[in-house]
Amino acid sequence: MKKVLIVRYGEIALKGLNKSHFEQKLIRNIQGNIKDLGEARIYKSNGLIYVAFNGQDEEEMIERIVKVFGIVSVSPAWEIEADMDIIKETALKHAMERIEEDQVKTFKVESRRGDKGFPFQSPQISREVGAYILPRAGNLKVDVHEPDMIIHVDVREKAYIYSKKIPGFGGLPLGTNGKGVLLLSGGIDSPVAGWMMAKRGVEIEAVHYHSYPFTSERAKEKVLELTRILASYCGPIRLHLVNLLPIQKEIHEKCPEEEMTILSRRFMMKIGEKIAKNNGCNALITGESIGQVASQTIQGLTVTNEAVSLPVFRPLIALDKVDIIEIAKKIGTFEISILPYEDCCTVFLPKRPVTKPKIEKILASEEKLEVEKLIEEAIVHMEVIEISMEE
Ligand code: ATP
Ligand code: MG
Repeated sequence: MKKVLIVRYGEIALKGLNKSHFEQKLIRNIQGNIKDLGEARIYKSNGLIYVAFNGQDEEEMIERIVKVFGIVSVSPAWEIEADMDIIKETALKHAMERIEEDQVKTFKVESRRGDKGFPFQSPQISREVGAYILPRAGNLKVDVHEPDMIIHVDVREKAYIYSKKIPGFGGLPLGTNGKGVLLLSGGIDSPVAGWMMAKRGVEIEAVHYHSYPFTSERAKEKVLELTRILASYCGPIRLHLVNLLPIQKEIHEKCPEEEMTILSRRFMMKIGEKIAKNNGCNALITGESIGQVASQTIQGLTVTNEAVSLPVFRPLIALDKVDIIEIAKKIGTFEISILPYEDCCTVFLPKRPVTKPKIEKILASEEKLEVEKLIEEAIVHMEVIEISMEE
């Protein structure tokens, strides 16, 4: 008898994808997320993945594994021989554990017979296991409509007993959809945008723009922490830290004040695109949402977009702030994002930023700047750190 985690990954997600490539990636990503907890054997059988414990803490394993994209749900289970007596014994033991740990009061049994060679049909397995547990589990009662716990008996080559199903996030395994550069500010939106794209299988590389010494070490530490949280889903993330201050100073000196935000935004995109091309990334990702701030009008987004030729993914484009906040809370970035440290955008913040910039005017302003040289210098001086979940 051994403890395993049953990992479900939803057949729908396989549509149009190479199934075994998908499964291998998923297994590798699971391995990646738990490897520092010690060796665990991972195997797949009949459309499910099993992770066998080897002394690891159950809760910690589950917490790590549900964060792997592509997983629909996870169940801690006992893997036993497909033998009716052993099934009954184990189901009883499991029921007693749940009574003790979670004070369950009612139950029912549901069975599945994947191995048609097993001599009992599913309804009969449920009846017999239920009848075995009932008189032996104190005050535990049967409730077929709304039980506190459903004991599942899944008979395959081996038999599996479980009663908990912890939901995952779904999506597709990371690495099955290319790689993108996430423009990561310290705000609420961009970490959520990165998480959403990663959930669809896009690997993340991140770039953050600061204005040191106008922005502080603490502001930088905040972005590192956000990246660590993203890394707990995605595995190690390379973070590029770029000082935008020299560029902002040039803009401040040579261009109209109200264009500061939009011009710096275009530099952010251009530098992001350079980083993308240097690192085999095929897209940029931002946390922009239509109408949220002055620079995120259709005209603003058009002018920002025009700065680059790579596709720009904006998964939050049509989400309300409250919905974005809800996701940020769910994924664990919210509390960090609201820490009140200054952002590079607050340096030289125009009093009245243009809300409907015209591309011709913006390009004319850019003419006054040595765009290529400024970008080159910013990249030469950038700092690159690889960030993993715990550090
Ligand atoms: P966020 O909450 O992500 O900061 P926001 O609502 O504050 O977004 P803006 O400040 O207009 O919006 O930024 C729009 C997008 O531009 C961000 O979502 C992010 O992708 C990118 N961006 C803004 N500031 C930075 C920065 N300092 N470093 C990297 N990317 C940035
Ligand atoms: Mg911001």
